[in-house]
Amino acid sequence: MSERTRIVLKSGKDQSLRRYHPWVFSGAIKKIHGIAREGELVDVYDNHDEFLAAGHYQQGSIAVRIISFEQVETDQGFWDRKIAGAWSLRENLGLTGNDRTNVFRWVNAEGDGLPGLIVDYYGGVAVVQMHSIGMFRNLGALVEALKKVAGEQLHTIYNKSETTLPDKPGITGKSGLLLGKQERGEVLENGYRFNVNWVEGQKTGFFIDQRENRKLVGEYSKGRKVLNMFGYTGGFSIYGMGGGAKLVHSVDSSGKAIDLTREHAEMNFPGDKRHLAMAVDAFRYFKEMKESYDLIILDPPAFAKHQNVLNNALQGYKRLNQRAFEAIAPGGILFTFSCSQAVSRENFRKSVFVAAANAGRNARILHQLSQPADHPVSIYHPEGEYLKGLVLMVE
Ligand code: SAH
Repeated sequence: MSERTRIVLKSGKDQSLRRYHPWVFSGAIKKIHGIAREGELVDVYDNHDEFLAAGHYQQGSIAVRIISFEQVETDQGFWDRKIAGAWSLRENLGLTGNDRTNVFRWVNAEGDGLPGLIVDYYGGVAVVQMHSIGMFRNLGALVEALKKVAGEQLHTIYNKSETTLPDKPGITGKSGLLLGKQERGEVLENGYRFNVNWVEGQKTGFFIDQRENRKLVGEYSKGRKVLNMFGYTGGFSIYGMGGGAKLVHSVDSSGKAIDLTREHAEMNFPGDKRHLAMAVDAFRYFKEMKESYDLIILDPPAFAKHQNVLNNALQGYKRLNQRAFEAIAPGGILFTFSCSQAVSRENFRKSVFVAAANAGRNARILHQLSQPADHPVSIYHPEGEYLKGLVLMVE
């Protein structure tokens, strides 16, 4: 059907594609027929000339990111169908046209069959983050598809790929507005108001993946003294206040994040004296703090960005959680998270349990948390399950 570049896999290396895993590692390739250009659509075959899948080629450890297990042309219709399929899932989840929540993940890379592409939706604004050259090459078609699928409600599209695209000659993935002029805006999450700055904020501007876990914090906060550690823009803090906390202290090492947290507290609970935000290092805060808390949230940045620093990361989780176990009041509730893809659920649990034992505290698991449904995980790509959390009652 096509004159496309063909990638032939070594004998036995076809197994993972037959199980619909969406990556081809460079070591699995036997031969390339034609010239594989960065980001080009290539067809992948097994050693006996059987077609397996089509995907975007890129030089590096992951050589092909699969976008279809059937022979396809990536014309406008292909992207329209993919983006519409992703939107339809969020529609089914009740996230589109929702008057209490207008922020959600529209496209979650492998979880939506689109490796290399993240799209977050902030009430009429799509923030596009590309992680592969293949997606970058199709940006024009993707933007058309986004506009077609969301229609008039979509007034702004921002490309935020400058730091996420790999460094390749000839590729200038400069961030910038692709539609509209807005660089920040207000969103609603479960009825709470947040300012999101997609140009300057971390990730695409807001940590959308904690929406449901924040809600659970709200449910546990009544009458408690809450410490929101690694609070960023204070998402958990706002839910804690809404849930009737006695006091809420937000800690983050970034002064900018703390300014935003104060802004959010004021927007949602004007003049409320229960909230205090502090720009200080987490470990230092634990060492010097005077207050005793009976609800602590630990949501640190990814400690392990790669498999080879896994041990250090696990040590990091252990040390951090140990501080929290030492500090928390008897009967306290600990919400503890890891957003490192390289850290498995089991390894994270072990680190937390060792931390409790080292601190001499007994604890019970009340909830095991994950990412919400607008961050779906393909069963063939379990690596996509990055967010892990535990809610523990500490005796
Ligand atoms: N809980 C947040 C997301 C946390 S992201 C939310 O719901 O939106 C991780 C945050 O940890 C970042 O804001 C970063 O500034 C902060 N951080 C990183 N290292 C830190 C440290 N050593 N002490 C305190 N905060 C830190």
